Amino acid sequence: MSENNTEQDNNSTAVNSGQIPSDEPVIYGRADHNVSRDNIDDSALKVLYRLHKAGYQAFLVGGAVRDLILGGHPKDYDVATDATPEQVKDLFKNCRLIGRRFRLAHIHFGREIVEVATFRGHHEQAENESEGSTRDGMIVRDNVFGTLAEDAWRRDFSVNALYYNIADFTVVDYTGGMADLKAKCLRMIGDADVRCQEDPVRMLRAIRFAAKLGFKPDQDMRQAIENQGHRIEAVPPARLFDEVLKLFMSGHAHSTFELLNEYDLLVQLFPATAKHLSEHAHMHNFIAQACKNTDQRIADGKPVTPAFLFAFMLWGPTFTRAMEFESNNMSPIQALQEAGRAVLNQESGQISIPKRFRLPIREIWTSQARLNNRRGRRPYALLGQPRFRAAYDFLLLRCQSYQPDLQPLCDWWTEFQVADDKQKKAMCQALHQARQGQQPRRPKKKKTRHKPAQPSSDT
Ligand code: ATP
Ligand code: MG
Repeated sequence: MSENNTEQDNNSTAVNSGQIPSDEPVIYGRADHNVSRDNIDDSALKVLYRLHKAGYQAFLVGGAVRDLILGGHPKDYDVATDATPEQVKDLFKNCRLIGRRFRLAHIHFGREIVEVATFRGHHEQAENESEGSTRDGMIVRDNVFGTLAEDAWRRDFSVNALYYNIADFTVVDYTGGMADLKAKCLRMIGDADVRCQEDPVRMLRAIRFAAKLGFKPDQDMRQAIENQGHRIEAVPPARLFDEVLKLFMSGHAHSTFELLNEYDLLVQLFPATAKHLSEHAHMHNFIAQACKNTDQRIADGKPVTPAFLFAFMLWGPTFTRAMEFESNNMSPIQALQEAGRAVLNQESGQISIPKRFRLPIREIWTSQARLNNRRGRRPYALLGQPRFRAAYDFLLLRCQSYQPDLQPLCDWWTEFQVADDKQKKAMCQALHQARQGQQPRRPKKKKTRHKPAQPSSDT
C-alpha cells in the first residue's frame, strides 16, 4: 500500500480528542512534513501497527521523529502509546519490561530494540509526592501514566516532543518543536531551571544534541546550565557512565568536549581532568585530538572502546601523579600503576567505570612505560599482547598532540610491527648497540684471584 493512498491531511484535527485537558496541538498533515514510512525501520513499523490494530494509540516519538524530519537516520526508535506496559507485553512475545525509574517495554528484534513507553503523566499527580522526588527537587520515580498531551509536556526539549501518528501519518506538535527544529534551537519544555533541577542529566543531553545536531541551547537553557550545572554531581555514577558513553561515543566527541568546556560542565564529569587542564593548557590539544580520532573511527565504521576513552580523558592527572611517584624512586611502570589506581578510584566518585574496563585502561597507561623499555625480548612480548594496538595508538596520540619528542619511538614501533623476523632481530640488536655506545665505558676490572670465602664465625 503506498503512503499516499492512505494518508489524510488532518491539518486542523486535534488527536486524542476528549483526553487532552486543555492544550490543542498543531497537527502537521502528511503533506506538511517529510516523515515517510520508507525511512522508518521495519521493526518500529511492526510495533506501531500492532499497537494500532489492537486499538491503542501508537506514535513514533523522540529522536527518531526529530532525525527523520532533519533528513537523518534515527539511531533508535521510541514509541509512545496509551497501552500500559503489561498490555504491551501481552501483544508481543519478544517483549521485556524494564526500568524502575521509568517502566518501559523493550521489544526485541534480534539485536535491535524498539522502546515502547506508556504516556507519562505529571509527576505532581503521584499519590505520595515524596516518593517521586528527593528534597532538592530531583525526580527519582516517574511512573504516573497520562495522556498524549501530558506526555508531550514531560519530555525534555521541544524538538524531542514531536509525535508521528501511525493512525493517520500526521505529526503532532504540542510544544512548538517544529519551529524550533527549523530554527536549530534547543528549548527546554517548561521552566528550564526547574526541569534541570528535576533531572540534571537534561543538561548533558543539551550538550549531546547541541554537538550532534549543531543546535544551540536558547538563552533560558544556557542560564539553567549555569545555575544548575553543579547538580550533575548528585546524579548516580552508573547513570553518568551511560551518559558519558553517549556523549563521547556517538561520533561527535570533539564538539562534545569543546561544548562541555564552554558550558563549564567538564568539571562535573571529570573533575581531575578539568583541574589538570586548567594548569596544563597543552593537554587540551591531546584530548581534542583523541576525540577527533574517535569520531573518525566511528565514521569509518571501526570499533571504539570505553577503555580508550577513559584512558585519554584521565591521562593528564594520571601522568602528573605518576611523575610524583617516580620522583619518589618508583619505577616508571609501577608509578603509572599506582597513579592509575588512585585516579580511577577518585573518578569513581563521579562516574562508575565498570571493572571490566578498569584493567584495560590501566594497561594502556602502564604500556606507555613498557613501550619505552625495549630491552631483550620485551618488544616481542609487548607486540603479542592483545592491547598492544591500543597502547601504540595512545603513544602516537601523545606524540601527535603534545610530545613531538616521542617521534623516534613511534617510528621504531611502526617499523617493528611490520618487520619480518630477521629485521626485527636487527632492530633489537641496533638498539642494544646504541645503548652500549651511550653507556660510559667502565674501567676494565683487574683479574684478581679470589680467595675462597672464609666461613663466618656464626655458621
Ligand atoms: P537519540 O538520537 O540519542 O536516541 P533521543 O532524543 O531519542 O536521542 P533518547 O534517550 O532515546 O533520546 O530518549 C527518547 C526520548 O525520550 C527523548 O527524545 C525525549 O523526548 C525523552 N527523554 C529522554 N530522556 C529524557 C529526560 N531525561 N527527561 C525528559 N525526557 C526525556
Ligand atoms: Mg532515541
